[in-house]
Amino acid sequence: MLDTPQRHVVFAESLDVAIEALAGGASVLAGGTWMMRAERRGEPLPASVVLLDRIPALSEVVVTDTAVTLGAGLTHVAVANALKGLAGLQGIVTAASSAANPAIRHAATLGGNLAASDFAAADLAPALLVQGAEVELAARGGSDRMPLDAFLAERRTRLRSAILVRVHLPREAVASAHARLPLRKAGDYPVAIVSLARLPSGALRVAVGSVEPVARRWTALEAAIGTRLISPDEAARLALAHMDFEGRDGVEADGWYRVTVLPALVKRAMEDLEARA
Ligand SMILES: Cc1cc2nc3c(=O)[nH]c(=O)nc-3n(C[C@H](O)[C@H](O)[C@H](O)COP(=O)(O)OP(=O)(O)OC[C@H]3O[C@@H](n4cnc5c(N)ncnc54)[C@H](O)[C@@H]3O)c2cc1C
Repeated sequence: MLDTPQRHVVFAESLDVAIEALAGGASVLAGGTWMMRAERRGEPLPASVVLLDRIPALSEVVVTDTAVTLGAGLTHVAVANALKGLAGLQGIVTAASSAANPAIRHAATLGGNLAASDFAAADLAPALLVQGAEVELAARGGSDRMPLDAFLAERRTRLRSAILVRVHLPREAVASAHARLPLRKAGDYPVAIVSLARLPSGALRVAVGSVEPVARRWTALEAAIGTRLISPDEAARLALAHMDFEGRDGVEADGWYRVTVLPALVKRAMEDLEARA
């Protein structure tokens, strides 16, 4: 006889219901593509989950001339479709349409990608960091917005009592690109990611994912490049000269390897950016 544990599922139809379920000890279940591997990571599956897909705000897309708002429940496929053809946001489209595989992209959500606090290889995190994204959280006391980098640092504690509802993007970049190195041995997760965005001033934003435990901007490289229009080879040379990453060791790749491939990824992303500018 199978000894199947009893699990409790809440189908939330409003944010208030979801927030109360969270307060009662439930975990958010979005696409489930990260959570489904919990036991492989040595973590128990939650006994109680709350589903958000009946809450309209989480699947909304709002596009204006100056900003884009994406509901956290949008799948990778939906994010790519919503942003396709919008100037400056190509890097996010590449990230959303090259992460994982088609089946996962139809289920995995934007919110799950940013909220999985032990997941270093999230493609959307660096792609959104270079866009100056902010996240909107809803909790018992109301909603608030915070920059994505602060959220990534604090998410483990913030999400104990809050739901990630939306991601807000200012439409300030004139071009963007996303380069990733997946390895079959890594289950096709990217072992290193570089995202770039060019601003109207010429300044370049650079962010790196999967190399350290949390994605971050490469401010030393940004400062070295400034507003100069440099070649992809020169960008790779500056990347090497301003390397300040401590690669994380993992079963899929050693830390030194993740760091070593960064200049080549910067070059590849610059080539894509040039082709789009
Ligand atoms: C085979 C495979 C390949 C993959 N390859 C890639 C890849 O190449 N690139 C990549 O980036 N990812 C990859 N992933 C990882 C994963 O699919 C993504 O990170 C995905 O976006 C997670 O989203 P989800 O909706 O499935 O999250 P879930 O598994 O449902 O949830 C993940 C975590 O986020 C929390 N959460 C989810 N939504 C919210 C919310 N709105 N508010 C608060 N908390 C929330 C959950 O409680 C949970 O802790 C891969 C996964 C698999 C199985």
